Amino acid sequence: MRTVAILGGGFSGLTTGVVLQLLGYATTIYTARRCDHSDPTVHHPAFASLYPAASVLPHTVQIDALGEHMRLSTAFFDRLAQEEDFGVRWQPQVEAFEQPVEPPPYAEMVRDFRMMPEDGSGLSGMPRRPGADALYGWACHILFAETPVYRPRLHALYTTLAGTVADRTLTPASIRNLSDDVVINCTGMGTLDLFTDSRPYDAIRGCLLHVAPPDAPLAIRDGGPFSYNYSPSMDVYPTADGTPGDVYFYPRRDAWVLGGSRRHGTVADGDWTGDAIVGPTVDIGGVAVPAPVLDLNRELIRALTGVDVADAVERAVYGYRFTRDLDGAGVRLELAYEHDHPVVHNVGHGGAGVTLSWGCGVQVARILHDEDLLGDADRRGVEFPPERAAFFADLQKLAAREVLERL
Ligand SMILES: Cc1cc2nc3c(=O)[nH]c(=O)nc-3n(C[C@H](O)[C@H](O)[C@H](O)COP(=O)(O)OP(=O)(O)OC[C@H]3O[C@@H](n4cnc5c(N)ncnc54)[C@H](O)[C@@H]3O)c2cc1C
Repeated sequence: MRTVAILGGGFSGLTTGVVLQLLGYATTIYTARRCDHSDPTVHHPAFASLYPAASVLPHTVQIDALGEHMRLSTAFFDRLAQEEDFGVRWQPQVEAFEQPVEPPPYAEMVRDFRMMPEDGSGLSGMPRRPGADALYGWACHILFAETPVYRPRLHALYTTLAGTVADRTLTPASIRNLSDDVVINCTGMGTLDLFTDSRPYDAIRGCLLHVAPPDAPLAIRDGGPFSYNYSPSMDVYPTADGTPGDVYFYPRRDAWVLGGSRRHGTVADGDWTGDAIVGPTVDIGGVAVPAPVLDLNRELIRALTGVDVADAVERAVYGYRFTRDLDGAGVRLELAYEHDHPVVHNVGHGGAGVTLSWGCGVQVARILHDEDLLGDADRRGVEFPPERAAFFADLQKLAAREVLERL
């Protein structure tokens, strides 16, 4: 029987593995690091999957056929949201700006989308900085994955479907020696040491604060969680690329997550170099954080919830959004031949690797199927645990409909 090697155990590798196992392919994930733990003190900035909160929104990414990827990811995440234990839910989200904006490309892909008035008067109950002259943007309902819950559940889903995981650090030579018939490259930033690629990349450094106010409820407004992304004027949050920065707030059960910063750069020998922080910083446990990430979020959260987060900051963490060819082809999702194997690449998802994970996993499966790299004879019957038969059957139907039964 022909087999598939998936390189990388982050969201891309695990999700691709689940899709392929659902379709009956035999896969092994080879990975240097795993993300099935939920320890927030484990810190490897190049391993992006340790950091997202995560919203299912296509921020800081370039990808062809964004609408199709969002449609696919939404279908899978929506099914997971119907299970209680995956940490996935629909929640109200506001994207607010102090300057006029166009509707986003994903307006049709979220629920209850509505733009704020064009006169800048905002909507009542929206986050608004005291002193803001005007407020624009939109409100909607988005899918949100509580990653400390979702990561281990996704990992368990993969192994329940008989996927196997091998802890291994790969080199080009060891990839050449893999006995599997096809290789799927989900190594994130690791791809730079393993495969050739003529397109440029960015390591966009993002900083997060984990805040745990005593007695902070997850039921923040109207009985449920609520999140925002807020872009003030340039004088409040200047950045190196000449556009205002944005800050965001995502409440989770373990902590409230406050972001954000998006500093472009590169990583060599584990060291990041790139855009300097413009404006004041605060030092949190040795990490220099752009001051608005704390101060502006603090102001907005206090106005919205009555909670002051200033004394409840537990830690600052930072990770790199590995972004391929932001001004060009974007995410690498294609078949190539290297290291004596056919290789399907699935890397470079920037700030949207969770968001795009199911769409990209399906696209990898379509490439395997359409290029006949394994053949139908190499798919096995899949056995599901009887206690969740309906759930597994739904996921399998989704995967089969989108990969095998397309017209
Ligand atoms: C601060 C921050 C906030 C974010 N917020 C969001 C969000 O809200 N929503 C969203 O959708 N996305 C968000 N993202 C982006 C998201 O985290 C990434 O796009 C996603 O995690 C990428 O997953 P991946 O599996 O492709 O890569 P990674 O998570 O980087 O995984 C790569 C894997 O490959 C393995 N690997 C690499 N090299 C080797 C090797 N030589 N041998 C063996 N294994 C190897 C690693 O061990 C790892 O398991 C955020 C990112 C950051 C940094």
